[in-house]
Amino acid sequence: MPSITVLLAALFLVTSAVAQQRMDGDLTSTPVRGSVHVLVMPAAGNVGVSVGKDGVFMIDDQFAPMAPKISAAVARLTDKPVRYILNTHWHGDHSGGNATFGGQGIVIVAHDNVRTRMSAEHFNAFFKSTTPPSPAEALPVITFSDRITFHFNGDTIRVIHIPGAHTDGDAMFYFEKADMLHAGDVFVLYGYPFIDLSSGGSTAGMIAGLDQILGVIGPETLVIPGHGPVVRRDRVESFRAMLATARDRVLKLVDEGKTLEQVIAARPLADFDLEWGKSFIKVDQFVTTLYNSR
Ligand SMILES: [Zn+2]
Repeated sequence: MPSITVLLAALFLVTSAVAQQRMDGDLTSTPVRGSVHVLVMPAAGNVGVSVGKDGVFMIDDQFAPMAPKISAAVARLTDKPVRYILNTHWHGDHSGGNATFGGQGIVIVAHDNVRTRMSAEHFNAFFKSTTPPSPAEALPVITFSDRITFHFNGDTIRVIHIPGAHTDGDAMFYFEKADMLHAGDVFVLYGYPFIDLSSGGSTAGMIAGLDQILGVIGPETLVIPGHGPVVRRDRVESFRAMLATARDRVLKLVDEGKTLEQVIAARPLADFDLEWGKSFIKVDQFVTTLYNSR
């Protein structure tokens, strides 16, 4: 989901590689490390692309209307075909291109719950919006429960489920050789995160998921967040610290018997707002999520 912070952050993606950036309208292609590039469109999820002798392995495919631009950006990197598309989770800013690419016969892979959620009408209580079932060609044709490993373009790509975090179908993608991780929306850099309780997400799961990510990455690992610039471990740590502290503060007020209205009125995150409050998730909404996710 978009915010002006994401728009700005995207412009500063991987500064060392700025000179090599290719622009295509709203879509920017930047090499990250090894075989991996990242395609960024402001407001949409970051697309990770591995390009090499085996072809193209793509993580997420943004909004549906972006599919032709994604194809054009990939075609400028290689003349080899896209073999696999993996979704970090089911949200439409990460899986919106599935119908187009699945219709082209590209193999779509995701966690079991991504297929389950995309297969049915879904009501989101936070946005008060209903999403219809996805067409058959958009659905993942290979699904996994805990993890799946790809041996592709000379790298080993470990795909690991993160249970009940941003949604109930999140996965992270760790490229061992490139030492690079795509975190999906369990780790985002637009400010207070959206935790999709209607899709089986939870605050505790987000924090546990960030610990899972921190257990995989090292000091030099490049981390592609679901939204925002490519960063290193320290930014994951500070995001986790904010989330854990925010949750502790809200739960302490809950333990004191305060109602949601009283918790919001107490402004438990007042000192966080300057750094984290620029998200499309306003502080009252974030406190409400922390209150409701217990
Ligand atoms: Zn999402």
